[in-house]
Amino acid sequence: MVIITESELNTENGFNVCQNCILTDGFFNLRINSEGLCDFCADPAHINPNWKKVQINDSLRKEKQDDWNKVITNLQEKFGDSEYCCVLGFSGGKDSTALVDTFVNEYHLKPFLVTIDTGYMTDVAMNNIKQTLKKMNLEDDHVFINSAIPIFTSLYKYLFFNHDSNEKGLTLEICHICTDILHTILVKESINRGLDYVMIAFSPDQIARYFYETSQKDTFEDGLPRPPEFKELLEENELEWFLTEDILIEELPRVLYPYHVIEYDEKEVISRIESKGLIDKGKGNPVVTNCHVVKVALMYDLYRYGGITYALQYAELVRQKTTKEERIKARKELLIVLLLFSRTIFRGTLNVEGFNRFFKRIGTTKEELLKAIEFQRQKDPNNLIILKNLELIKKMQLK
Ligand SMILES: [Zn+2]
Repeated sequence: MVIITESELNTENGFNVCQNCILTDGFFNLRINSEGLCDFCADPAHINPNWKKVQINDSLRKEKQDDWNKVITNLQEKFGDSEYCCVLGFSGGKDSTALVDTFVNEYHLKPFLVTIDTGYMTDVAMNNIKQTLKKMNLEDDHVFINSAIPIFTSLYKYLFFNHDSNEKGLTLEICHICTDILHTILVKESINRGLDYVMIAFSPDQIARYFYETSQKDTFEDGLPRPPEFKELLEENELEWFLTEDILIEELPRVLYPYHVIEYDEKEVISRIESKGLIDKGKGNPVVTNCHVVKVALMYDLYRYGGITYALQYAELVRQKTTKEERIKARKELLIVLLLFSRTIFRGTLNVEGFNRFFKRIGTTKEELLKAIEFQRQKDPNNLIILKNLELIKKMQLK
């Protein structure tokens, strides 16, 4: 057990948090300089394995908007409101619910809706889905896939107990691999149905990896089972959920993210689907995330790396504020959000039921996982800095 003394809590430059955003000194190897700025605030081009700023220039955006208009016109000419025009990933969240509404009521197109349960679908999402399908008379145009649950369960178990990076957090890693499998299932569904498009309701800020479209080559690569050690653990019949090396890349469907180019206003989205009775009031606006697995991964990263991984995204929100006053206000608010969120993790009160379900399903306990985290953290050259940051967060001394 390492004890951090009060004087050791002080940093070299006297700042433990960036004075412009909310990132802490030493979190994922980030440093605060003598002016109190973190690497990202000191250099907008700074890249970290856990975060990079993606900027879309106007001409690229325009080009993709034009493409989207062409795609929709083309689908309208070919399909109209009778036949399926594409596969649409329908999670029951506000964004995918609104996208279903846009396709049916604005474009007069009929998408085939696919919902995939990773084993942690919430009752709220389930009710949203049922309600929307009934209200829009789309119950026959939807498939609910829950037979892939074992894949996700073994993936999570593998990742939580084999993550051994000192540089890259688990939250992002899990999100990427899990998303790739979800998207691959949609791709396979569209191949089986002879459809050329997969539509995914990523929000406008979900552009870290792909803007508007995943190329067929990336769709292929993302569709293969990974990491290789995980593939070894899969049964023959479980490989069915993935693509195979011999697939013809040019025959894969186009995977598109419409919200990256069409008008998107979160308030409008929520009020539209609520007023149409697709979801009940207050059920479409989750705080932080509604994914149980991500919450457990955030806990992992907090104990392993000494911070809340989402701080990297939140920090960018602070940086984007145009005036100094707005930045100070946002910085203060988000620091409090992070500290309170960390507190729920330390106290074990974050999403208790979801955590219990998660640990039971992957056949372990929180204590076992905490031991595995500690084992990894002690091997990290930054162990002391991480422990120091944990102390600062516990004492709410970020400033
Ligand atoms: Zn900063």
